[in-house]
Amino acid sequence: MPKHAKVDVYSKYDESGQFSGERCPRCNANFANHTDRKICGKCGYAEIKKTE
Ligand SMILES: [Zn+2]
Repeated sequence: MPKHAKVDVYSKYDESGQFSGERCPRCNANFANHTDRKICGKCGYAEIKKTE
């Protein structure tokens, strides 16, 4: 019986509230947060953070 690992991850993000607005505009999956970029783990969409 498979566990609902993905659902657990999503609910954690929702509880913290820090991940709202950090979802992929293409497929609405959560981004993987890196130092200078965010990458969608589902479709590969990448968003570069603009740092001064
Ligand atoms: Zn995506």
